[in-house]
Amino acid sequence: MHFDTGRGNPYYGAPMLTTRLPTKVEPYRLASAGKRLEGVIPLANMPRVVEAIGAQEGGVSVSMTFDIDTQRRSFIEGSIAFEASLLCQRCLGPTEPEPLSSEFLLGLVTSDALAAQLPGEYEPVVVENEQLDLLTVIEDEVLLVLPQVVYHEEADCAVSRDQLASGVEPEASDAPAVNPFSVLRTLKDKH
Ligand SMILES: [Zn+2]
Repeated sequence: MHFDTGRGNPYYGAPMLTTRLPTKVEPYRLASAGKRLEGVIPLANMPRVVEAIGAQEGGVSVSMTFDIDTQRRSFIEGSIAFEASLLCQRCLGPTEPEPLSSEFLLGLVTSDALAAQLPGEYEPVVVENEQLDLLTVIEDEVLLVLPQVVYHEEADCAVSRDQLASGVEPEASDAPAVNPFSVLRTLKDKH
């Protein structure tokens, strides 16, 4: 399968990228210093997102504060916001870009065993060699917030239009908005 990642296109999203986030950070150092990172990551740089919903323009606005809680646990409190154009599951055409956002609280741990000991409010993130791949972390958060199934409004959907054109009189739209197939059945019964 081919994915256009937008890489190599100098014009791709350039005006939107105000701040480049580092791909990798040293999270424990940032937590000790109480650092805050903000920036934009292009959706095109996230292969799993592109695989899930197709090529996307624009980027994910990211804000992350690194800190240490009263139990000396290092954590990241963050938020993401972006717009995604998803494919309608009825006609497979693109829908209007939808604004999506989420907040997260990540507990930094050095092993799966320690991850299991984290309090429930923390989403565990295992840090290896003091390094954290920010792109992977943010991509995980983006995937979590994507809607599973999206449909056009019926009036905007190519498939619904075809169904209407294939037999239902315009007056039929006065009926309560129910399953279009049951509307079709009712009309057929009348003939
Ligand atoms: Zn549609």
